[in-house]
Amino acid sequence: ALYHEMTARMPRWVRINSLRATREEVFDWLSEHRFTQVTGEEVGLREFAESRHVPGLLAFHPKATSTLLASEMYKESWVVLQDLASCFPAYILDPPRGGSVVDATSAPGNKTSHLSALMAQPMGQDKGRVDAFERDPVRYRTLVKRLTAVGALHTSGGMGNVFAQKKDFLTTKPSEYPQVTHMLVDPSCSGSGIVNRLDFLNEDDEVETDPAEGDEGMSKLERRLAQLSAFQLLMLRHAFAFPSLQKVVYSTCSIHAAENEGVVLRALESDEAKERGWTLAPRSEVIPTWPVRGDKAACEGREEVADSVIRCVPGGVGDGDKPNVESCNGFFVACFVRSATQDGNAK
Ligand code: SAM
Repeated sequence: ALYHEMTARMPRWVRINSLRATREEVFDWLSEHRFTQVTGEEVGLREFAESRHVPGLLAFHPKATSTLLASEMYKESWVVLQDLASCFPAYILDPPRGGSVVDATSAPGNKTSHLSALMAQPMGQDKGRVDAFERDPVRYRTLVKRLTAVGALHTSGGMGNVFAQKKDFLTTKPSEYPQVTHMLVDPSCSGSGIVNRLDFLNEDDEVETDPAEGDEGMSKLERRLAQLSAFQLLMLRHAFAFPSLQKVVYSTCSIHAAENEGVVLRALESDEAKERGWTLAPRSEVIPTWPVRGDKAACEGREEVADSVIRCVPGGVGDGDKPNVESCNGFFVACFVRSATQDGNAK
């Protein structure tokens, strides 16, 4: 019952895919099909509202889902169904037009295609390059399928800017990517923040790590979180070693501090962070208007750390009956930055 209550109050979020359609085309389609734009907190049955935090992201009533899924607009990939929280990482990364970006953990590819679209605006110009890694062969196939549908995959003679690679990110050699300045790290996690499974159907994959030694007294959850956070930390430390990297956005769809603030604190203490000058971006660069920030206790009292990261509380917010435009799945985002000189070394 609680689950249904939560999903009923969460909007269905739809991102305009600027690789396939313009904002005007999507808004025209909506008005032709009698959807009215509203600017308040809630969306009714035949209404939609644009997110106050991520431009081009539209909230609909969940009961409009079947209409949207059956529409030409959806079938032609003018829009992508993608939760509000899932749109934060690429938007915060703010990849440079014409730049070189890595998505370390890409399938099923929603954040990759968002990155691709942000880099190729206006349509197809200065589109840059996204190297998108995915280690799991089955999920890699899904990634390629989705990127093709949305017009993001690079093919010979095609327009796309994403180079999908079936590869373990941890086996990549940072020195072979001297041009990469921005990176997304959205690794496997416990998925504990996910209320609305539809967007994340394939994301609850297992991580093949052995239980750490000396953890006999741990509960099953604690052991799993210890494994996951060790893996997540490894991914971030590997990212920090890319020579020209200036910005890394780390995200999970977990509500557990161990995978979120805990990993961030350990990453900041790592040799790679210290040697190369990695710090957290200030709140002003990490959607400052988003009210829910990090868990202070989990940040060991470091208020500046808690303030610079984002949390999303899973499920519906607000008191009304209708879906509220601030509601989404549970999520966590941190943005690491480093100022680099021309030869790629930290200042
Ligand atoms: N960013 C994706 C999106 O928005 O659609 C979701 C990513 S999902 C949370 C994590 C993905 O990372 C999984 O598909 C998993 O197979 C992949 N993965 C885990 N470890 C990896 C590694 N070492 N190298 C590359 N991919 C990895």
